[in-house]
Amino acid sequence: MPTCPVHFNPLTSPQLENPYPVSAQAREEAPIFLSPIHGAWVVTRYEDVLAILRDPSRFSSAHVFRRPVNPTPEVLAELAHLPPEIPLLVSEDPPTHRRTRGLVSTAFSPTHVAAHPLPFLEAAICLDETRLADLAQADGADPGALGALMQLATMPLLHACGRSLAPQVPLDWASGYCPVCGAWPTLAEVRGLERTHRWRCGRCGGDWGLALLRCPYCGEADHQRLGSLTTEDDEATCTVDTCLTCKGYVKTRTVLQPTPPYAVVLEDLATVEWDLVALARGYRRPTPPGYLLGVRLVEPPSRIRTFFGRRP
Ligand SMILES: [Zn+2]
Ligand SMILES: [Zn+2]
Repeated sequence: MPTCPVHFNPLTSPQLENPYPVSAQAREEAPIFLSPIHGAWVVTRYEDVLAILRDPSRFSSAHVFRRPVNPTPEVLAELAHLPPEIPLLVSEDPPTHRRTRGLVSTAFSPTHVAAHPLPFLEAAICLDETRLADLAQADGADPGALGALMQLATMPLLHACGRSLAPQVPLDWASGYCPVCGAWPTLAEVRGLERTHRWRCGRCGGDWGLALLRCPYCGEADHQRLGSLTTEDDEATCTVDTCLTCKGYVKTRTVLQPTPPYAVVLEDLATVEWDLVALARGYRRPTPPGYLLGVRLVEPPSRIRTFFGRRP
């Protein structure tokens, strides 16, 4: 048998992150090959895979998991005390497989998935509290608790957006709201020896600002209208910047380095006593976001079909 041109090892890098080039090469050069690493034949063309899946009498899934060694009689005696082995979905043949799969497919159908987490995530990303409360009520959940949970649930996605969009944020972004997710700043930073003033977003890790000091909410730049709540402690690294025009406030931390994106929300929690100081003096953070996003989440294309060279 000639040497297989395909070096197939999908469980290690770089194929783990991107299996498509090797899959495409296999479809062209060796549509069916024996993988010495897995001790199994690998089939790469969609039509061949479909034909095999539809022919369980010749290509059974029943023995897909083989025991790596033959157990000794002592091991078999111990195993006999355990509950009987339950077959897995992937090691069943029709008609059992079809029945079990029907139950699983119902729970994970696009309609069912779309009817549940995506609207919650969309509403949370858009900071649409009314929509979140309606969804919570319809699902019998506590709106406050669910809203807080959903804000946490959006963070991995928003941080990924923050990382990928950061290079596109204009250096002269002049608005007070986050250029990535539209939220008002969670904190401000006075950074480094240059004392650069930056606003930070706890949702996506956003980092923006202009040299000119002004209120992020109403744009007030008159120093007579801008104030600061502080302590007499020279070591204090947090103050509260206030605006008399809109009665808004932002906590401002003095830092040497930018706070890592994931830590912005933690610093917000760590300085909660400053929120109490500001609230006690009648200052507020605005409730509606700075910019109303119109985000629509969609399911990714089927990776299985893409893997086998079919368009989604
Ligand atoms: Zn943001
Ligand atoms: Zn203001």
